[in-house]
Amino acid sequence: MDASVTRQDPRYQALLRGHNLRFPENASMGPARIVVCTTPADVHRALQTAVHDGVRPTVRSGGHCYENFTANNPGGVLLDLSQLSTVDLDPRTGEYCIAPGAVLGDVYQSLYKRYGLTLPAGSCYSVGAGGHISGGGYGLLSRLQGLSSDWLEAIDILTVDASGKVIERRVDRKNDPDLFRACCGAGGAGFGIITAFRFKDLPVAPREVVEVGLRFPWDTMTEQQFIALLTTYGDYWATRGCDPDTWGLFALLGVGPKREDGWLGLHMQFCQPDGKVDDVSVLREFMAKFDRFNSELISSPHREFANAATKPTARQPASAAYKPKRIPWLEAATSDRSGGNGARAKYKSAYMKRSFVPAEARAIYRFYSGNSITARSSVISIDSYGGAVNRPQLAAETAIAQRSSTMKLQWQCYWFDPAEDAQHLRELDAFYTSIYTGEHVGPHHQGTPWGDRYEGCYMNYADIDMLRYPYWPELFYGRDGLYEFLQKVKQSYDPNNVFHHAMSIRPA
Ligand SMILES: Cc1cc2nc3c(=O)[nH]c(=O)nc-3n(C[C@H](O)[C@H](O)[C@H](O)COP(=O)(O)OP(=O)(O)OC[C@H]3O[C@@H](n4cnc5c(N)ncnc54)[C@H](O)[C@@H]3O)c2cc1C
Repeated sequence: MDASVTRQDPRYQALLRGHNLRFPENASMGPARIVVCTTPADVHRALQTAVHDGVRPTVRSGGHCYENFTANNPGGVLLDLSQLSTVDLDPRTGEYCIAPGAVLGDVYQSLYKRYGLTLPAGSCYSVGAGGHISGGGYGLLSRLQGLSSDWLEAIDILTVDASGKVIERRVDRKNDPDLFRACCGAGGAGFGIITAFRFKDLPVAPREVVEVGLRFPWDTMTEQQFIALLTTYGDYWATRGCDPDTWGLFALLGVGPKREDGWLGLHMQFCQPDGKVDDVSVLREFMAKFDRFNSELISSPHREFANAATKPTARQPASAAYKPKRIPWLEAATSDRSGGNGARAKYKSAYMKRSFVPAEARAIYRFYSGNSITARSSVISIDSYGGAVNRPQLAAETAIAQRSSTMKLQWQCYWFDPAEDAQHLRELDAFYTSIYTGEHVGPHHQGTPWGDRYEGCYMNYADIDMLRYPYWPELFYGRDGLYEFLQKVKQSYDPNNVFHHAMSIRPA
């Protein structure tokens, strides 16, 4: 049974807010009503009522959207799907069925404990399946197993036809295959409301993994050393990191403010492609690349990188001193429940096909050596990427165009005071733009990660700043006709543009 929450209801303010406390920017932006649905039938009814009443529906599952695509709906209705949260085996079809409101941590627990399976999805426990899987969804196992949307077999979705009637569809490779493809990576971009993700096969979860961290003295690091560190990291993913025996290795290099006694942290998770950890030579070989940067070992990389570390000795660098400690994969996958809760935030992204050029690394070094308010409140996560994600046929079968990248970058900026909003948004945007300005970017794409070295941006890291570039669809959907395909799908399945937000697919 659904619950309808109007502005007068004491629950309204709490339900209006998603993960990012920056939204809604002002109270008048919020919808007239929030409908908390508990079954697909509730969603159907609420959607049909909204269309009948001529009000705009927006849909929220886990509430982790990076931009204000859901709460910004003056006079409209926000459909809250967070209570549709089951993870089950459908006895009729033999498919694993994940409801959109299920959060990733619970998805991992259910799939693993009941079936020994997993989904190569994200690292944050509380992200919702609804936006995450439909937008690609990647995480620590993606180099080994691809994106979570790559495994989809079918989707249950509600669309609205030209007459305003809500249509229930099960879409797959045979039924409405164009809509199915669109939902394998662009499902949150305005085609309908997904009520279930269905999977025939899912990857077997690794039995065990090792986690380890390295830290580098950041406060004393010179610009030249930083450039060398970043290019060493980037070179690995663009070369050796493409070999299948390395695909069980995931790494995240975090670059943040340069402070006294500060550190740069490199977090790694590893298992062999068969999901075991009998031989860590691939991991050790990777770690050895960083011995020359005076790296120190951190045994619990989830804790602060400023905690106790093992210093290298002349006889034993970090890669040699490392003693692997195997832990069950489930423990690693569900241990990190953080995620910037309670903060205002802005994010940006870039896919990289090759290593860093000195100009990029220099811009990053100089920004974080400065003392701007945004430099002190932000971090760039430089994630390893590629491997199984880059199987070339997937570009034509799904709605994720980026299938050649070897790193994925994410800018994250967090603060608490609303009075700082404008300054953070401006400074982060200027910093990001400066990195992609110069000879390493094509003359027509200055300020954006596009060209020989880059593959644009990730729609699940939505960033409305990119709308100022007339070619923004290219950045998110590539140049090989995917965006035009999605526009046709939009035209066929949402002819009245019922589902729209700032970055939804524009009708053809
Ligand atoms: C702390 C944090 C950690 C993250 N970590 C990762 C990560 O490791 N890997 C990664 O790939 N991404 C990550 N993300 C990004 C995340 O995948 C996206 O923000 C995702 O869209 C969130 O989905 P949601 O359901 O939680 O969000 P919501 O705000 O509910 O939805 C996001 C978008 O999807 C649409 N949508 C939601 N549900 C449906 C539905 N049922 N049908 C149709 N459209 C729908 C919404 O309308 C909205 O436009 C992270 C985000 C945060 C905040």
